[in-house]
Amino acid sequence: MNSNTGLRAPGHPLGIHRVLEPKGAMPQQAWRLDNTPTAAANEILCQVEALNIDSASFKQIADECGFDPQRIGEHIAKIVGERGKQHNPITGSGGMFVGRVLEIGESLRENIDLRAGERIASLVSLTLTPLQIDSIEGVDVATGRVWVSAKAILFESALWARLPEDVDEGVALAVFDVAGAPAQTRRLCSKGQTVVVIGADGKSGMLVCAQAKARTGARGRVIGVVPDASSPAAAVLLHCGVVDELIVADARDALETSSRVTGAAPQLADLVINCVNVPGTELASILCARQDGTIYFFSMSTSFTTAALGAEGVGRDVTMIIGNGYTKGHAEIALQTLREHPEIHAHFNRTYARKSQ
Ligand code: NAP
Repeated sequence: MNSNTGLRAPGHPLGIHRVLEPKGAMPQQAWRLDNTPTAAANEILCQVEALNIDSASFKQIADECGFDPQRIGEHIAKIVGERGKQHNPITGSGGMFVGRVLEIGESLRENIDLRAGERIASLVSLTLTPLQIDSIEGVDVATGRVWVSAKAILFESALWARLPEDVDEGVALAVFDVAGAPAQTRRLCSKGQTVVVIGADGKSGMLVCAQAKARTGARGRVIGVVPDASSPAAAVLLHCGVVDELIVADARDALETSSRVTGAAPQLADLVINCVNVPGTELASILCARQDGTIYFFSMSTSFTTAALGAEGVGRDVTMIIGNGYTKGHAEIALQTLREHPEIHAHFNRTYARKSQ
């Protein structure tokens, strides 16, 4: 606060002024952030209603807490209490939030198309979002959704999106969380390719299959790998024609997965997209890709070391891409993917639509 004018000073646009430890770290790398719920001149203060915990992180926490909603809530409150942000120390991943804008710092107000009172979803990770939780209101174990009374800060550089009017809020939250995946799939796929999607029946997997089929066209082949073909999502994928083949395999078993894929396709994949929420699936992805093919690791459970040394070990010259959470226009591309596939949209409504707690 400037004592002469009563105005608050602007912070660093990337939020570095909020880093408490270690000094010199960027907010995402930092162990702990200052989560004081007061907006600097270039920050946005939000009242947070729901957290969408990243799937790899939620699965790890749920496993540790025996899938008990009460313990999961306490665990999340403890992480946020210690770190000033929802940054799972085991998986290193976060998620995003939905809430209402309480205040926009005075130096931002005239420069952004957003007003106090509007409801938004954050499009930057919770691993770099200062967050203070007052209470946990509920935990939905099926979707990884956590209802909270909390306050969060968005930095000047942060991405956010207004909630769409034609898509249920819970569905929009689920779609925004994985928005980078369909947008990058659209960029990576081309006509006639063979694409393998591992974890095809999850949120990102379904949107990725939809984009991959649209881009590869009738001569292309999209092969989904799922752990269980009897899931409702698997039925939707087949019925709406966004996969040409569905293979049941545990992707932690690299040989089994790749042999089933080669049994279903005349050739190995030009592009493999990994959308699972468990560790240990790097080698299956590598073995499903052809020489000079591409692997897109969207999964947060991906180990750089395992992927790099694994590809070397099996002599596969492949391009491996880290799934950047951000792609230009990703939120709109992800929503559009949903709108263009009514059966997938209906499945998301059944699974992720906001239910009263
Ligand atoms: P999700 O909805 O939970 O889907 C994960 C899918 O993987 C599920 O369908 C799951 O099947 C399947 N799966 C689990 N174990 C498997 C196995 N051993 N073999 C084959 N399939 C398996 O997750 P999501 O929200 O789409 O997220 C997918 C991944 O992306 C997660 O790791 C998440 O953390 C990550 N993510 C990355 C970014 C980024 O910026 N790169 C952003 C958000 C999320 P079951 O449900 O039957 O177990």
